[in-house]
Amino acid sequence: MRAETAYDELIQRVREETLLTSCEALLEWDEETYMPPGGVENRSEQLALLAGLLHERGTDPKIGELLAELERSDLVADPRSPVSVNIRELRREYDRYVRLPRRLVEEVARTTALAQTAWAQARAASQFKGFRPWLDKIIALKRDEAECVGYSGEPYDALIEDHEPGIDSRILARLFDALRQNLVQLAAEIAERPALPPAPRGPFPVDQQRSFGEMVAVVAGFDRRRGRFDLGVHPSCSGIGPGDCRLVLRFDQGDLVGGVLTILHEVGHGLYEQGLDPSYYGTPMGESASVSMDEAQARLWENRVGRSPGFWRYFYPRCRELFPDALRGYGLDRFVLAVNQVKATLIRVNADEVTYNLHILVRFELERALMSGDLKSADVPEAWNAAYRRYLGVVPPNDREGCLQDGHWADGLIGYFPTYTLGDVFAAQLFAQAESELGDLESQFAQGEFAELAGWLRRKVYREGSRYPSARLIELVTGSPPNQRPLIDALRNKYARLYRL
Ligand code: ZN
Repeated sequence: MRAETAYDELIQRVREETLLTSCEALLEWDEETYMPPGGVENRSEQLALLAGLLHERGTDPKIGELLAELERSDLVADPRSPVSVNIRELRREYDRYVRLPRRLVEEVARTTALAQTAWAQARAASQFKGFRPWLDKIIALKRDEAECVGYSGEPYDALIEDHEPGIDSRILARLFDALRQNLVQLAAEIAERPALPPAPRGPFPVDQQRSFGEMVAVVAGFDRRRGRFDLGVHPSCSGIGPGDCRLVLRFDQGDLVGGVLTILHEVGHGLYEQGLDPSYYGTPMGESASVSMDEAQARLWENRVGRSPGFWRYFYPRCRELFPDALRGYGLDRFVLAVNQVKATLIRVNADEVTYNLHILVRFELERALMSGDLKSADVPEAWNAAYRRYLGVVPPNDREGCLQDGHWADGLIGYFPTYTLGDVFAAQLFAQAESELGDLESQFAQGEFAELAGWLRRKVYREGSRYPSARLIELVTGSPPNQRPLIDALRNKYARLYRL
């Protein structure tokens, strides 16, 4: 077979797999938004069928044969060409997939489905011991998974690799240690200063927040002819396919700031989706570089844009027109201070941008120790509370507000938390580089101008798809490998000013 024919056959197969995955994504989006509660059983059957089909197709030995043939051909002569990139990435995915026995994949699916319920019950009762046996099972399964797919350093690395190819726990520990020391210090200095004004509590009617938020999204560059907004319990962004990006939003009538930051976070993901090259749809070249690089886009729009004074200089007058009573007495300067209030709290999802990563670093430390066996599951609550006392200076009064607050572990997502902080690190590197090339971005934001930033990200990051692993892409775009310094500098400069440190 000619190499070109083999390549066409391979691409045809992976495009079909992508179509199946996009059906899965659409069903999951519907479950989050419009499905009536009575649909849950049929929906789980639909999803299980699709997962089975995907596993069958993804592990078909024919894919291995096609890849082997292509790897011997001269189609892979230039490692940066789209064809080479697709072959490289499809090889990585295929090898990982075939090394996981179907028995293990099914066992993980079954266990995590049940563990979700056990976690929800343990959380409601605020008793870790109800979840503990499930955590033990999940850790054991994840160790099996690591042994099947292989790793070079420690088993935890195999799980990180699943979300962030090319990154391991050693690289993360180095970045995160430096970050932690600086953030603990900064948060402690801020805690010594008088608090900034609290955010206004509304009421901000949800319908008006929604139309305001959608306007913000469109001004930021989200194309609503190729995307839509809906309400749901968990904010999210699903790229169904080219021309179809779904943002799920949530508004609370007492929290205007949270609603706007949430929409900007999801818009950041959405701009990446909408900025991918549609001609590569269905292949790695048409996909985001990694989970962290995707999260970086979200964190960049949420924090570097959405918490900036320039952004509010443009949008705040519109807020005051919409919510004149609720914002009475809140001038622009006071409002910007309220948006940037820093206070160590117990719950990750409500955290400000200074303490947020400390929440993640606790989870990184604990799950790494759980995987290595240094930490026994029975000791999780105690280790959790001790880490919170050490890094955040607060101690959860119970497990619900402590180690049971997130569903990630119950969902089998071990090795996922670090991508939040790595994403934040990338976001700060990208934003600093964008400013050095484009000039003062905040004065553009103050004019309602976001197109230059969005265009820069599209050219530098989105259009590259998965051409490079995330660490290499960040180095090519910013001139530096993954580096915590721009994030530390951005936070210190900003909060030294706001808190007069
Ligand atoms: Zn996100």
